[in-house]
Amino acid sequence: MTTHTGAAPAPHSAALRPAAPLSAALGLDLGGRTALVTGAAGGIGRACALRLAAAGAKVRAVDREADGLAALVEESLALGPGLAGVVEPQVLDLTDLDAAEAAAAGADVLVNNAGLQLVRPIEEFPTDVFHTVLTVMLEAPFRLIRGALPHMYGQGWGRIVNISSVHGLRASAYKSAYVAAKHGLEGLSKTAALEGAPHGVTSNCVNPGYVRTALVERQIMDQATAHGIPEERVLTDVLLKDSALKRLIEPDEVAEAVAYLCAPQASFITGASLALDGGWTAH
Ligand code: NAD
Repeated sequence: MTTHTGAAPAPHSAALRPAAPLSAALGLDLGGRTALVTGAAGGIGRACALRLAAAGAKVRAVDREADGLAALVEESLALGPGLAGVVEPQVLDLTDLDAAEAAAAGADVLVNNAGLQLVRPIEEFPTDVFHTVLTVMLEAPFRLIRGALPHMYGQGWGRIVNISSVHGLRASAYKSAYVAAKHGLEGLSKTAALEGAPHGVTSNCVNPGYVRTALVERQIMDQATAHGIPEERVLTDVLLKDSALKRLIEPDEVAEAVAYLCAPQASFITGASLALDGGWTAH
């Protein structure tokens, strides 16, 4: 990524904001902007919420887990007194699609992040789980974008960042619902990019490989069963098998890419899918 140190200074005191020098380097000043992040109670969503708050945004943190949101608000206070209160929690189950669409009204930045995973062969995959995965990871993002666009179009500026996955670009066995949802999200993101371009709205995907989050920890046992191998071999033999870089990526690294897509330097990037996959898709 290119950075320009001559960018406009951030509005708040750098002493109050640990991430301010990096935000300034990116020209990323989200002061006065409202960012909605779904799935913000943990993992990548939590990292995105804190990163965007550090850049000055008022963050609406949406999740169905109230305790995780409360912990996030506590953490956001540690960013500095100048940022106290910029993370606002909203407990919401995204399977309530009407509520999801309503929640996005007025957002300047939308990060579609909430997700879930189940690892099972297709013939054993529970149909209700398939439906839930598609609802949370594809239909809810559609409804959130739908809810956010009128305000974004009205002001001629908006940023949509969809947390896709390598599995938006490649399939893996036993992940039918997840792979289907992420491939659908890629199409939704590109369509939003085409429709949003005349209105100053960009829409992009970020595509991480395996990230060190609870979602990955939870699937290790499932992967061991599905592949018939011991749990200790799942990381090397399954998760990192196709990655040239043999490590998990950290949530903060994904959040940095999300922030970059909101920066002025990224204003010509739309309809793109930014792979953070340690070389997986280089195969
Ligand atoms: P995570 O399980 O740590 O966090 C997901 C969050 O989504 C949780 O806080 C959960 O409560 C929330 N959520 C799930 N269903 C919800 C619903 N119905 N309503 C509201 N909130 C709901 O997972 P993560 O690893 O941080 O994943 C975040 C996103 O990143 C997902 O879209 C995932 O597909 C994607 N991703 C993750 C990885 C990885 O390796 N962890 C890799 C690529 C992409």
